[in-house]
Amino acid sequence: MLRVAVVGSGPSGVYTAQSLVQQSVVPGVRVDVLDRLPCPYGLVRYGVAPDHEKIKSLQQNLRAVLEDDRVEFIGNVEVGVRGLTPARLLELYHAVVYCVGAARDRRLGVPGEDLAGSHSATDFVSWYSAHPDAAGNGFRLDGRSAVVIGVGNVAVDVTRILARGADELRATDVPQAALAALAASGVREVHMVGRRGPGQAKFTTKELRELGALPGTRVEVEPEDLALDPSFADPSALPAVNRRNLEVVRGWATDAADRSGAGDAGGSGDAGAAEAARRIRLRFFLRPVELLGENGRVAAVRFERTEPDGSGGVRGTGRYEEIEAQLVLRAVGYKGVALAGLPFDEARGTVPNEAGRVLRDGVPSAGEYVAGWIKRGPTGVIGTNRPCAKETVTSLLADAAELAGRPVPADPVGALRDQGLEPVAWRGWLSIERAESALGLSLGRGRVKIPDWAGLRTAAREDT
Ligand code: NAP
Repeated sequence: MLRVAVVGSGPSGVYTAQSLVQQSVVPGVRVDVLDRLPCPYGLVRYGVAPDHEKIKSLQQNLRAVLEDDRVEFIGNVEVGVRGLTPARLLELYHAVVYCVGAARDRRLGVPGEDLAGSHSATDFVSWYSAHPDAAGNGFRLDGRSAVVIGVGNVAVDVTRILARGADELRATDVPQAALAALAASGVREVHMVGRRGPGQAKFTTKELRELGALPGTRVEVEPEDLALDPSFADPSALPAVNRRNLEVVRGWATDAADRSGAGDAGGSGDAGAAEAARRIRLRFFLRPVELLGENGRVAAVRFERTEPDGSGGVRGTGRYEEIEAQLVLRAVGYKGVALAGLPFDEARGTVPNEAGRVLRDGVPSAGEYVAGWIKRGPTGVIGTNRPCAKETVTSLLADAAELAGRPVPADPVGALRDQGLEPVAWRGWLSIERAESALGLSLGRGRVKIPDWAGLRTAAREDT
């Protein structure tokens, strides 16, 4: 018998559990998947945008793993709290795999970053995804113009949610307060701004194209931004995804040029000039240097115009531009957070490891592993976590004979209760699901997420 704790029930945690039970080397494996929240699925529940129903449906695959007889979901259990240290976990389990993701947003490091109205995109995502830690957050959407800084997939997500009408979100599980705020939103222009060119943008083409398909929204690209990008002259050196991105962006720039040449008659997406209720303006080669305020609230972002430096980066030109913004969302990437008792590489935001084995002072630590973003950094799509988890599990299984010789308690969940924790079991989660369906019914909608800790905990207890 090999008892393994997986910390984190997002995709990397669940793929780790799946990989462990699918292997045939250790037939008697049991996996407890612990999560700080009483709800499973990590960023699939709390990060994937509500209008991305196909990706959301991945929850069904993750669910099948958590319902396996050899796997147990244990929610509402935070490692690092009430004595549940990494050392304590190693007393309770033969091996522990940390799949805790990258929970913090990166900072811009420019003046004005903390003005009212300036938020990290991750806070905005948490709010419309009903993450209980974001229950107290409010977003004022009464301004006309929003700036999204960064051109990765998170930037595309928040831009799309700002531009999408609330009517289309009503059918999703978006929490009621966020739906009401989005329905009343006054935002008419969203500027999504990259510091480098479209040839270096991090978004993927499918996500980018969705912006052009939003009803009532027109996407605009400045031809002069594109003219700066040497990738247009020779895209052959670019990875396929960047080449495809360039084609899409070029199409929008051409639309813009046609419009100005033909009296503003046409439009990208399905919204021409006359009928577009909202505009998304994709901008490039603009580096944020300061957020400018008025009466303590953000009013504009000041950017320095950049130009390619010939080696994939950019340099400043000493020319500046301001874009009006009553709302600024900083979508410049995630960063891992150190977990007390585990080694941490501050610069990379990851736990030092070798093929998933945690390294303490450069030496593999018996029984401790990592997978997902805390192992490799916040990159890749959900599927990237599968091979990543597999590599870690291969390392763990190679060590299994040595690890399984050590005695561990037969009932680790009982031990967690004994030390004052209140684990939520799978049936508690099923109870939350039922409560969310009932909430939706009462609002005349489909299932609606419960957005706060008290609501989730009460719902989880209803079945105990
Ligand atoms: P990301 O892909 O790393 O993009 C970060 C963006 O911020 C880049 O454009 C980067 O520009 C820019 N940036 C960084 N520091 C900056 C600064 N100081 N000033 C201005 N711009 C700055 O990060 P992400 O968008 O948070 O996404 C994280 C991961 O989640 C990615 O792997 C992404 O694909 C994935 N994700 C996927 C989906 C989906 O599949 N639908 C949805 C959401 C997230 P530089 O390139 O110049 O550094």
